[in-house]
Order: sequence, then structure tokens, then C-alpha cells
Amino acid sequence: MSSPPKLSNDCFALPPGVHWTPVDETLASLRERVSVVTGIELVPTLAAGGRVLATDVVARRDSPPYANSAVDGYGFAFTSLRGHEQALPLAEGRAAAGGPFDGVVHAGKALRILTGAMVPEGVDTIVLEEDVIVEGGVLKFAMGLKKGANVRPKGEDVGAGEGALSAGRILQPQDLGLLAAVGVDTVEVHKRLRVAVLSTGDELRQVDEDIAPHQIYDANRPMLLDLIGRWGMEAVDLGHVRDDATMVRQMLTRGAQEADVILTSGGASAGDEDHISAALQASGTLNLWRVAIKPGRPLALAMWEGVPVFGLPGNPVAAFVTALIFARPTLLELSGAGWSEPRATHLPAAFSKSKKPGRREYLRAKMDTNGHAEVFKSEGSGRISGLCWADGLVELGDQGREITEGDPVRYYPFTEFGL
Ligand code: AMP
Ligand code: MG
Repeated sequence: MSSPPKLSNDCFALPPGVHWTPVDETLASLRERVSVVTGIELVPTLAAGGRVLATDVVARRDSPPYANSAVDGYGFAFTSLRGHEQALPLAEGRAAAGGPFDGVVHAGKALRILTGAMVPEGVDTIVLEEDVIVEGGVLKFAMGLKKGANVRPKGEDVGAGEGALSAGRILQPQDLGLLAAVGVDTVEVHKRLRVAVLSTGDELRQVDEDIAPHQIYDANRPMLLDLIGRWGMEAVDLGHVRDDATMVRQMLTRGAQEADVILTSGGASAGDEDHISAALQASGTLNLWRVAIKPGRPLALAMWEGVPVFGLPGNPVAAFVTALIFARPTLLELSGAGWSEPRATHLPAAFSKSKKPGRREYLRAKMDTNGHAEVFKSEGSGRISGLCWADGLVELGDQGREITEGDPVRYYPFTEFGL
């Protein structure tokens, strides 16, 4: 199947003269510059959960495929009813799910019929068994029924040939149920987006490696690799590299061979040891987007050998927040699922804060038992434990604001970020 066009080398170029880019503008720019990069493959419906539909799916079969009973009861022709007190002799036999009645129910008669049974010829209305008595082979009931009561018409849910699901949808468990119901046994989905993750820094060691007093364990990589898996993408672990331009370049090249997009953390600003910036600078496609966000420092965006590179900040909290805010919608777009931003709810603040103007702030937050938004006791961007304490983020807009307890604040539960 055909592959989509590659992103152009200058796709992250920003207009000159822009210094601090607001979050919304950054998101709008990213959205404008990226497009789907994944190819398409055919997979069995049974294995398609979490995959991104690549084409619209049309129902192959009506659902339900035949008119059937919604209840356990008795079926008859509506025109057999007379007045208020009904007495219909029962026909021999019954209709059950998977055991159809093979015959006709004649006018004036009723037939035992069970939930899911195909409605036999001659029946258009069904009375619930709890509403009747059967005496001497005669069905008796005293209630007004509408024609068609308790019958699920053929194709009532989805008709054959109708659209069942649209391209771009990330297949949910209930979608697999619908696909099966309408007889779709295979679907065209996007190949999983391969996302390489690289940590940079002379101080880093992997958590299972020996460590010296001046070193720290790489916290970003396990976090980012797991995020990618939860987003239904394929994580490619590039490990960590020292702040060494040659090694950084080698790893980016490996990432470009093995993945569709590379996420790095650390080394993204313009400091001496910031070799991600330096290496990407050499590619001639680097754009440091100075985003007005806290926590977060510049986002480094570039193309390396045809593959987009997303340079996240090194501080773990900043890396996590910028991954949720910027990387997630971008990766979803690249993956074929389409751009998607989280929806906020408004909660009364359980805190007070004097927020300075200039940068949008994301605070580690949690909804308390009264439904108010509490925030973590520290805003330190190395305090990973605050992310574990939190169940979401509070977003404070770009403007300055005096927040007192009870004021409404925007709150995003982590579930809105696919977690
Ligand atoms: P950098 O962006 O490289 O200047 O890093 C900013 C801060 O984040 C420094 O304190 C780094 O030690 C820390 N840092 C960078 N990468 C990681 C990582 N993978 N895990 C934990 N801390 C990191
Ligand atoms: Mg560093």
C-alpha cells in the first residue's frame, strides 16, 4: 500500500523575529506543520484494539440482521388484538435465539418467543411474559400494546452499506463489538507510529547500571517509553548518550532508521553541553521554539535524515508536561489518529496563588474529595513525586491572575492525555 509523503526539511521553520511563543500558537504551528507519516496494513478485527483506523468502515451486514425479540414473551400479529382483554390460543412450538420457528403464526394465534429469536412470519408485536398468564393453552393479557412492541427491527442499529466507523478513530473495545456485529472481520489500520526515545546527559546512568556519586539515574526514558506505549505507539529505546556531539549524531541516525519520529530529552537549550541543539543545528533544520510555558524550556524541533525530532526539556517534570501538551497531539497527528487536544473541566481552586503574566503554567493537581483542585506543595520541576501525587494538571492562562480559594480553574485529568 502507498506510503504518505515525507515531511519537508523546513517544516518546523518559524517566522523570524518570534521570541516567546505562546502555548496556543505553538500548538497551532505544530498542527499546521505535521501530517500522517505511517503506512497502512490490514489486521484482523480481533487484534485491532487500540489501532488507528485508516479507512472508513462500512457495515457488511445489517445489525441486527433480522427482526428479533427484545424480550422473553409471546408474539402475534397486532391486528389479532381485540378490545382490552386479550385471549389468543397458543400455536405449537416456539422461537428461540439460534432456533427459529419454521412456520407461520396465523392471525388470532400467539407463539412463545424468547429474547434474540428471529421474529417469525405472521408476528409483528411481542408481549412480555411477566405481563401475561397462560391458561389452558390460551394466552391472556390486559394491556394496551403498540404495534411493533418489543421487536428490534432488522438494521435498526446499523444498516448494511451504512458507515459504521470513520478513519482516524482509535479503536475502542466497543468498536470491535460493532465491527464484529456488522460482519467486518479485517480492518485497514495505520502501522503503529514508531517513536524513538533518547536521553542525553553526561550525568545519566540507566537505573540498573553502576552509578557514581556525581551521576543520576535516567528518569525520563522509562517515563517517555511508557507514555508512548499507552498512546498505542511503538516505542524504540535508544538508551542514553553522553553530551558528545558524535555520539548524539550517531544515535539520531539510528533513530531515523528505526523510527518515524524521535523524542529526546535534555540538552535542548543553547548551553555549552547542549549537544542535541548543537547536533540538530548542524542538520540545518533546527528551530528552538522558546515556548512561554512553565514548566518547560525551549522545545527543539528539527528534521534529522528525514525524520522529525522533538527535543524535550531535561527536567523530568518539564519533560512529562511538554510530552503531554506538545508531543501527544503531534504524535497522534503523525500516527493518523488526527490532532487531539485534551478537554478541560473547571474546578474551584483549593489553593490561592499569585500567577505572574507571560507564561502559561501547568501545576501538578489533584481533585480533592469535595471536587476542588488541589495543587502539589512544590513547583520544582525536578520533583517527580509530585507527578505521582497528582491525577491531573491545572492550567493557568498566559495572563497574570490572582487566584483565591474557590475561583474556577481549568483542570485536565490525566485521562484526557490518554493515561
Ligand atoms: P538539560 O536540559 O540537559 O540541561 O537538563 C536539565 C536538568 O534535567 C538537569 O538537572 C539534568 O540533570 C536533568 N535531566 C536531564 N535529563 C534527565 C533524565 N533523562 N532523567 C533525569 N533527569 C534528567
Ligand atoms: Mg543535559
